[in-house]
Amino acid sequence: MTDFAEKKARLLSLHEEVEKCRKCPLYEKASRGVPGEGNPSAEIMFIGEGPGQKEDELGRPFVGAAGKLLEELLNSIKLTRSDVYIANVVKHRPPGNRDPLPEEVGACWPFLERQIAIIEPKVIVTLGRHSLGRFLPGMVISKVHGQPYRAGNRIYFAMYHPAAALYNGGLRPVLFADIAKLPVVIKKIKKEAEAKAEAALADGETKEESRLF
Ligand code: URA
Repeated sequence: MTDFAEKKARLLSLHEEVEKCRKCPLYEKASRGVPGEGNPSAEIMFIGEGPGQKEDELGRPFVGAAGKLLEELLNSIKLTRSDVYIANVVKHRPPGNRDPLPEEVGACWPFLERQIAIIEPKVIVTLGRHSLGRFLPGMVISKVHGQPYRAGNRIYFAMYHPAAALYNGGLRPVLFADIAKLPVVIKKIKKEAEAKAEAALADGETKEESRLF
């Protein structure tokens, strides 16, 4: 099986688990699970907070008004939904679109961690202050949006939630300016990884040589 096919299969089986998940009560009022969708080998993973009404109806993330803006943002850097992976912190819709409770986030978090582990994105884009706060507690979106942050072995890039720009039109140009930086960020991440791999290889060769003598 190719790496891509294996990732796809693992995600599919995780999605089936989401559909059957009863670890918190959110499923009781939701129509279905909204596990996430996109390219299993995506370089960029977008993570919102939780499904809204339209997402709950269709079982797909970001398919309402905020999703339409997310698609415009992606198109502005010559990407489409199928190039990236889109998911949420919680996989069932909180009733009335309320914020998910800490215990609901805690119950759902392993799904998101597993999705990230399977996809291995180069960068995780958090959409909105809630998603940012789950990964990088204490960071303030107005201060950190549009800049990459390394935490552990991951790189995060915070953006305002597209839904916020639907209410506050002033955020729209900010969102477009922030996403315009993503291709450069990814290029730099790749260059850095290549340099590291080369250094490791050179180091390995030296060790190999010294072992030979
Ligand atoms: N808002 C989110 O955070 N996620 C969605 O999937 C849709 C709207």
